[in-house]
Amino acid sequence: MRVKTSSFIFFKTTKRFLFFFILFLFFFFLSFACAGKQRKPFLKEELKEAKEKKEEELKKGYFPMPNLLGKTLNEAQIICKDLNLKLKWEENLGRESHLIVWQMPSSGELVKEGWVVWIIGEESEIKVRASVTIPDSDTSNEKMVFEKVRKEKIREKKSSYVVCLDPGHQRKANLELEPIGPGSPVMKEKCRGGTKGVLTKKPESQVNLEIALKLKEVLEREKVKVVMTRTSDNVNLSNVQRAAIANKHRVQIFVRIHADGSLNSSQRGASTLYPARNKWTELFYQASFKAAKLVQSELVKSTGLKDNGLVARSDLSGFNWSRVPVILVEVGFLTNPEEDRLLNQPDFQRKIAQGIAQGILKFLSLGD
Ligand SMILES: [Zn+2]
Repeated sequence: MRVKTSSFIFFKTTKRFLFFFILFLFFFFLSFACAGKQRKPFLKEELKEAKEKKEEELKKGYFPMPNLLGKTLNEAQIICKDLNLKLKWEENLGRESHLIVWQMPSSGELVKEGWVVWIIGEESEIKVRASVTIPDSDTSNEKMVFEKVRKEKIREKKSSYVVCLDPGHQRKANLELEPIGPGSPVMKEKCRGGTKGVLTKKPESQVNLEIALKLKEVLEREKVKVVMTRTSDNVNLSNVQRAAIANKHRVQIFVRIHADGSLNSSQRGASTLYPARNKWTELFYQASFKAAKLVQSELVKSTGLKDNGLVARSDLSGFNWSRVPVILVEVGFLTNPEEDRLLNQPDFQRKIAQGIAQGILKFLSLGD
């Protein structure tokens, strides 16, 4: 009897257990099937879309830039060959074991024949310029589609861009000397005193700083990262040190903000300086020139200042010590009474910041 009861209980428990187990399995598979049903078409759709998009791009002769970061220069060459990209080195490579720590265009951006790819090697900041050649096929309509796709990609990537802003001068000039370029026997003051407002008497260093801080705001609103050489007037920074800050952060562009001065008080207008081609600027003078053109035209458009054009300079330490594209914007004349007044108005400073930012954004989205 006792045995019977226990076996009955056992049977009953097992049955209950089996019942719940089967119920559990049923719901388990049901939920799995539902999730699968929801996910599968979505994934499929997405994969198909991505595949089609890629094929479409490839058909038009556009090619996503491979990731060269962390590769040796030698490996990068092999990768590009594999992808049917012709990598033509235009400069001395240095040691082939150098690791690539920076590239422009960056990985995933579309590249096209004739585009210039910038690469920085790990040691000694060797900068190598190479151009990528891919199979050619082109119509203006395709170009437009390409532009659209590229701009979308760039919008996503904007947050990876870094810009260095250098508000020119500082409260106290530093008249000690430093070479105007690496290894140069020609010396120049570390940081000359700037000009000052003919009416406001305000020193240029302060006006430059006010404008640069506004420019920082505009760029950050656009999700561009900004590195400042200074955020106070009370610093002691030579022009070589300022360039070193931009180099250290491997920025896409180094923008120096200045206001002009002249003995002739009727002189007015804005100009943008860029590095002349020399042994120090060989690798970035072209990109700098492009940036200067864009910034100058946007600045003039936004402020209505007289367009004094672009000026190539080979005597500026801040240019010659730079390893990245660099420009210097002269935002107007503090020695001109009308422009002194304007340059000290917050609203006008914002217009200047807007114009320069627009030029920088255009330069960044060009990628070359
Ligand atoms: Zn200046």
